[in-house]
Amino acid sequence: MQGSSKRWGARKSSGFYSLAAATALSFLAACFTTPVTGRTSFNPFSIENDKTLGAQSYAEVMKTSKLADSRPEHAMVQRCVDRLVAVADDPGNFDWEVHLIDEPETVNAWCMPGGKMAVYTGILPVTEDETGLAVVMAHEIGHAVARHGTESLVQQFGLSVIVELLAGKNADMWGSVATASITLPNSRDHELEADEIGLIYMARAGYDPDQAIAFWQRMAAQSSGAPPEWLSTHPSDDTRIAALKDNLKKARSIYAGKKSWKPNP
Ligand SMILES: [Zn+2]
Repeated sequence: MQGSSKRWGARKSSGFYSLAAATALSFLAACFTTPVTGRTSFNPFSIENDKTLGAQSYAEVMKTSKLADSRPEHAMVQRCVDRLVAVADDPGNFDWEVHLIDEPETVNAWCMPGGKMAVYTGILPVTEDETGLAVVMAHEIGHAVARHGTESLVQQFGLSVIVELLAGKNADMWGSVATASITLPNSRDHELEADEIGLIYMARAGYDPDQAIAFWQRMAAQSSGAPPEWLSTHPSDDTRIAALKDNLKKARSIYAGKKSWKPNP
């Protein structure tokens, strides 16, 4: 085994230089401007990577899930998602798709990298109506268009590992990267950014953004006792509600121009 001094003191191999070149290229290509907030994020993955990772994981989940797409609520889920997707800032031909999954005990919904979505029947009593569901799905779509899933992978695995992976090495790692892209808890900053994007998308789609506050309060109220799965990765506290209120002004002005579009036709 090489000691670290020898490793770093040795003449650098051509492999080192190609890795350095790949890293430099990745940095150039990796600046992504987040829709709505305008934040510049560092994400060495391509949009196609987002779509492939999401599609792989989605196929796995769908294989083992009991779909409830024939239930009457599915029409509402589909309509809500269609309206939000129509106004979302798509980073590059996302393969938007949603299924309703029959799990009354699962209070959860998500949108994977690349736009593949699921709503669990267990969250419908908390969302109550189409506008409540729009709060959840606009937030989840916010995570996907901001590409939070793949952005988090750099921190999780380290930049050099990701650069090697994207350069075609360690192909067997793609499975664990795909899993991590959907299972890593979102950071507080990502949550707040998804909230901000979600409010704007709700308003653009003609859903009353003020209902976001009411929904989060319902989620917080029902979390006494064992916290539902969705809440455990989506902390709802005073800071978050305060941030939502700060962003409501802009969302309300967008919504004011959309009121002729009834949210629940
Ligand atoms: Zn979230």
